[in-house]
Amino acid sequence: MKVDFYRHPLGADDLAALTEALASPILTNGRIGERVERQIAEFLQIPHALLTNSWSNGAVTALRALGVGPGDEVIVPAMTFIATANVVEWVGARPVFVDVDADTLLMTPEAVAQALTPRTRAVIPVHLYGQMCDLPGIRQALDGRDDVALIEDAAHCFEGALQGRRPGALSDVAIFSFYATKNVTCGEGGAIVTRHAALAERMRRIRSQGMTQGAKDRFSGGGYNHWDMTELGLKSNLSDILAALLPAQIAAIETTRTQRQHLAQRYRDAFANGPLRMPHWLPQRDHAHHLFPVHAPADLRDAAIRALEEVGVSVTVNYRAAPLVTYYREKYGFTPEMFPVSHAWGEGVLSLPLYPALTAAEQAWVIDAARARLYPLLTSAAA
Ligand SMILES: *Cc1c(COP(=O)(O)O)cnc(C)c1O
Repeated sequence: MKVDFYRHPLGADDLAALTEALASPILTNGRIGERVERQIAEFLQIPHALLTNSWSNGAVTALRALGVGPGDEVIVPAMTFIATANVVEWVGARPVFVDVDADTLLMTPEAVAQALTPRTRAVIPVHLYGQMCDLPGIRQALDGRDDVALIEDAAHCFEGALQGRRPGALSDVAIFSFYATKNVTCGEGGAIVTRHAALAERMRRIRSQGMTQGAKDRFSGGGYNHWDMTELGLKSNLSDILAALLPAQIAAIETTRTQRQHLAQRYRDAFANGPLRMPHWLPQRDHAHHLFPVHAPADLRDAAIRALEEVGVSVTVNYRAAPLVTYYREKYGFTPEMFPVSHAWGEGVLSLPLYPALTAAEQAWVIDAARARLYPLLTSAAA
């Protein structure tokens, strides 16, 4: 059997939404995007939502709007996708990597407290694999510093919650990704949400080159309106063609979250007493189950990947420790010893297929393949 690592949920049912988008005379962000922004704001219970063309460009937009730039430091976890740190580099600030908790792989309040300096301007906790970080604890670690923004990397966690509070409720800004393999996807896309009205307005401007009027507003009132540019922006708005693919997935999110939860629980039960390590799930959280990572000893990880691929199971690595990629190692002189937890996890982790369209037979195939092919590998190495 062949089991894909991921299959998106879009299909023939989405063609009507695309047709509607194509009926508009101008194919940039417009009426459809505004509708989706209202839908996102309502689902998350956060007043302001902006669609963007990626998480990454959304994050650059947010960092610019918050005034983060050269000379500033931004605290990021070492166990994350490189984008979390890359956006800090793009605004000219310095990413300050902190190691993560050994059980959950999440950023901790203690690590943030230790990394905080007078130059710190933002902290970006990552809700890794779909499980929310201790945001109240991290806020407390900021020790009342109101010059430090709390920005959630919620690329894995559109539908997760912490004691009923969704991303955006406990921070200054939360940013989502609708990239091809994310839980909600339109191929490429993202969203920013915030509770602060003035910040939302500034991000909206920066999203369109810093222009005072968006394309849609240039013709509002029946005729052409002049625009001005008051600050440097970038180009991070999302086309209505892509935005049109989001509403159906957002409307179905509680159903798909339950499906992901059942699949994740089935993996967890199947591997409970075996040699593969799995991250701890914390209480009082609705886990978005974006990925299902398991961990093998570092010297066996690549053999484990090959063993699964040989029987048709596609897997990926999420992630090797971000500060240890060549760019960051060479620029800042980072070594594995500086991030022991992230390094050890990153050298042994592999992600199994996890998505609502994964059938029971496909998942059983993955579980049987892991038990039959990985367990002997791991237990004979341990002996
Ligand atoms: C996917 C991802 C991003 C980047 O999202 P894009 O939409 O591709 O820019 C950022 N952070 C994490 C944790 C991700 O997994």
